[in-house]
Amino acid sequence: MKTVILQSKFILTLVIFIIFSGFNFMLADNNSCQPGSSGQKFTDSHNKLNKDWKKILPSDVYHITREKGTERAFTGKYWDNHDRGIYKCACCGAELFSSDTKFDSGTGWPSFSAPNAKEAIEELPDDSYGMQRTEVICKKCGAHLGHVFPDGPAVTGQRYCINSASLDFQNQ
Ligand SMILES: [Zn+2]
Repeated sequence: MKTVILQSKFILTLVIFIIFSGFNFMLADNNSCQPGSSGQKFTDSHNKLNKDWKKILPSDVYHITREKGTERAFTGKYWDNHDRGIYKCACCGAELFSSDTKFDSGTGWPSFSAPNAKEAIEELPDDSYGMQRTEVICKKCGAHLGHVFPDGPAVTGQRYCINSASLDFQNQ
């Protein structure tokens, strides 16, 4: 008899747990579907796993943005682009750089003296390959973009050296 009561209690607890989990899941799902909720989009992009990105990105873009690759100098599509417009993240579409701050650095990579908005990017210390560098990533989705060096033009003194493959240019 005691065993039966214990079993019932256990089943009841289990049922309550399942209902509660299901309810929470539904709430979370509803939130992610809300239109115009940029905070939620941030979470969605950031939570995307590398295997998800691999399905939707061209292989070169995947390698550079998600595996921290670097395109060969003078081979990318934007190092010599002089059109006016906005450079968006190739992964999530965040507006990262503007043609207004693009300059010819002679390096063979698109170079900018500043990001479109400071909040659009994140700068992280990178000591790979025995070098002390500062990595630049997309703040919204974590895509690797390139590196920033303190040898840029006078206004900011910064040179954001960015892979073309990490960017998606939109004419203005
Ligand atoms: Zn992004």
